[in-house]
Amino acid sequence: QAKQRGCSQHLAWLPELQAAAGRRFELLQALREALAQGAIGIELQPQVELESGMVVGVEALARWHLADGSTIPPDAFIPLAEATGLIVPLGEHVLRLSCEAAARLCAAGFAHVRVAVNVSGVQMERMDVVASIERQLAATGISARQLEVEVTESTAMEGFMAVRDVLDRLRRLGVSVAIDDFGTGFSSLAHLRRLPTDLLKIDRSFIQEIDLGASRSALADLVIRLAGRLDLKTIAEGIETREQAEWLRDHGCELGQGWLFARSLPLDVLLEWLQAHGGRVEV
Ligand code: C2E
Ligand code: MG
Ligand code: MG
Ligand code: MG
Repeated sequence: QAKQRGCSQHLAWLPELQAAAGRRFELLQALREALAQGAIGIELQPQVELESGMVVGVEALARWHLADGSTIPPDAFIPLAEATGLIVPLGEHVLRLSCEAAARLCAAGFAHVRVAVNVSGVQMERMDVVASIERQLAATGISARQLEVEVTESTAMEGFMAVRDVLDRLRRLGVSVAIDDFGTGFSSLAHLRRLPTDLLKIDRSFIQEIDLGASRSALADLVIRLAGRLDLKTIAEGIETREQAEWLRDHGCELGQGWLFARSLPLDVLLEWLQAHGGRVEV
């Protein structure tokens, strides 16, 4: 009897499971169409030198534009794309748009502004990211120096050998490498030292702690010092207050990104914004 009850409980869940699977399938269909119809785009968020206020980079962030003018954020569709393999064409698309953005920046007199592209571990497993980047560099005529790749700390550590090989090839091309969301994964210090990388990107959660006093900012401080010892630069993500920016600058963090400086912007708006501000922000 108990067994029977267990079984019928299972059956009771079935419609819900089917509905969830159905919704997922519908979302995937919609995402496929969006990609085919050019509704997946990027926005670009400025990255600034904290000492001078110079804009030295922009991070490309994927956006799904709906017909009603609203946008779906990447967290809502990148995981699905990764689970289904759609991340391969989607990743190619984002890379192409990012290289095209770099070409436009160059033409507008901002050749020194790097475009940073997020690449996930699944992308590295499923496609030859280096070959794809080489193709896009050739197609758009931009220099590898204008491109940066961001991989998360957990991706870098979990797939260490394979990821290290990809990053090594990218850096030999001249593409720079940043370790994203740093501090939230479990880094082996031995691995970190052997990782071909230029930049540690301090996770936003540590930046939020800065306003909360000395003991809470200890981790951000530690990451900056660690980076210094490894000859890496640091960039802070998610800077929202002037206090955070000042604290970071005073503690030796070279670069910053966050709503205090600018939100992510469509390329045309970014170009206007850069022209209007002479390529720098107030710090
Ligand atoms: P991420 O790479 O860590 O990107 C930073 C996220 O923080 C972005 O969210 C950005 O809009 C947000 N952000 C920036 N400044 C601030 C701030 O001052 N305050 C707050 N609260 N948030 C801020 P977004 O655009 O929703 O992207 C989320 C994540 O999706 C990204 O995190 C990245 O992991 C992933 N992602 C975005 N685009 C792509 C892509 O093209 N490919 C892949 N594989 N992943 C992507
Ligand atoms: Mg990122
Ligand atoms: Mg990040
Ligand atoms: Mg983050």
